[in-house]
Amino acid sequence: MQTFQYTKAASIDKALGAASGAKFIAGGTTLVDLMKLSVEKPSGLVDINLLPLDKVETLPNGGLRIGAMVRNSDLAWNAEVQKNYAVLSQALLSGASPQLRNMATTGGNLLQRTRCVYFREPSAGTPGGYGCNKRTPGSGCAAMEGFNRMHAVLGTSDKCIATHPSDMCVAMAALEATIQTEGPKGKRTIAFADFHKVPGDTPHLENALEPGELVTYVDLPKPVEGAKSVYLKLRDRASYEFALASCAVVAKVEGGRIRYARVAMGGVGTKPWRSHEAEAALMGKAANAETFRHAAEAALKDAKPHGENAFKVELAKRCVVRTLKMATA
Ligand SMILES: Cc1cc2nc3c(=O)[nH]c(=O)nc-3n(C[C@H](O)[C@H](O)[C@H](O)COP(=O)(O)OP(=O)(O)OC[C@H]3O[C@@H](n4cnc5c(N)ncnc54)[C@H](O)[C@@H]3O)c2cc1C
Repeated sequence: MQTFQYTKAASIDKALGAASGAKFIAGGTTLVDLMKLSVEKPSGLVDINLLPLDKVETLPNGGLRIGAMVRNSDLAWNAEVQKNYAVLSQALLSGASPQLRNMATTGGNLLQRTRCVYFREPSAGTPGGYGCNKRTPGSGCAAMEGFNRMHAVLGTSDKCIATHPSDMCVAMAALEATIQTEGPKGKRTIAFADFHKVPGDTPHLENALEPGELVTYVDLPKPVEGAKSVYLKLRDRASYEFALASCAVVAKVEGGRIRYARVAMGGVGTKPWRSHEAEAALMGKAANAETFRHAAEAALKDAKPHGENAFKVELAKRCVVRTLKMATA
C-alpha cells in the first residue's frame, strides 16, 4: 500500500473541497481491501463519516430519502423499509456478514467494485501480469478464457465480463431509485438505470459520477399501492457469499392478472440488471407458472455465457420464476 493524505471532513463543502485527486472513504469495507491489493492507489482519502447523511426520511411525495452514510444494517432494519420496501431489506440482509453490514454504507455499496479474481489480483494489468481492461485499459481480459464461473452473462463486451456484485443495487433497480449527488459543478439527480455503466470498450468507466462528485442520497419513489416485493438470492452457500443469480421483483396482481411488474437481476449482469423484457412479458398476463417461465426466458434471451458460467443462464431463469411466484402469491 502506498502512502496517502488522510482528511476528515466535517461538512459536505469541506469534503468536496478536499476531494481533488482523493477518494471518499465511508465504511472502508471495499476501499481498504482494494488499497491493500494495490488495485486502488489514491493519493488522498477524505473520510466522510462525520457528514450529516445518516438519516432515512420520508419525502413530501411519500417516497423515502436514504442518506449515503446510512449503514446497510440500519437501512435493512428500518421499519419503513421493512414495511414498504421489503425487497430492499431482504437484499441488504442477504449481503456480506452482520459485522460488514454494520460498517458498510448506502453510498459505498452503490460504488463497490467487482469481485473478479483477475481484477483483484495485484499483478493484473501490469507487464507480465494478468490482463484486466478494468485496471489497465488495453491489457486484455484474463477472465474470458480463465476462471469465469462467477462472471456475467448479460451486458458483457469483448473487453470485460466482470459481474456487478451488489445485492442492494438489484433491489434499488427494481424500485426505480434515483441518486442525488453533489460535486464541484453542483447538484445532480441521476436515474438508477443511468448510474452504473456496462463495460463496452471502456470497462474502467463504471458509473456516471464525475471526479470529486459525492453521492448524498438515494431516493425511493412512493411505494406502489397493493404491490408486494421480494428478493431471492441463489449462492454457493447459505450466507456470507456473493450471488450466482439473484432476482428482485415488485409486483401487483389484481383479479389473477399482473397489473404492475418490475424485475431486476443480480449475479448475472455487468451492472444491476433491470429486465424490461421480463416486465413486458408479465404485464396484463395471468399470474401463473407459464407466464413466469415466459418472462424468465425473455429476461435471459440475450445471455452470453463464457465456458464455466453457462449454468448461470438456466439458474437465473429459475431464480426469476421462483421470485415471481413468491411476489405474486
Ligand atoms: C467479505 C465480504 C463479503 C461481501 N459480501 C457481499 C455480498 O454478499 N453482497 C453485497 O452486496 N456486498 C457484499 N460485500 C460488499 C460490501 O457490501 C461493500 O464492501 C460495502 O457495501 C461498501 O460500503 P463502504 O461504506 O464500506 O464503502 P467504502 O469501502 O468506504 O467505499 C467504497 C467505494 O465507494 C466510494 N464511496 C463511498 N461512499 C461514497 C459517497 N457517498 N459518494 C461517492 N463515493 C463514495 C469510495 O470512494 C470507494 O470507491 C462484501 C464485502 C466483503 C469485504
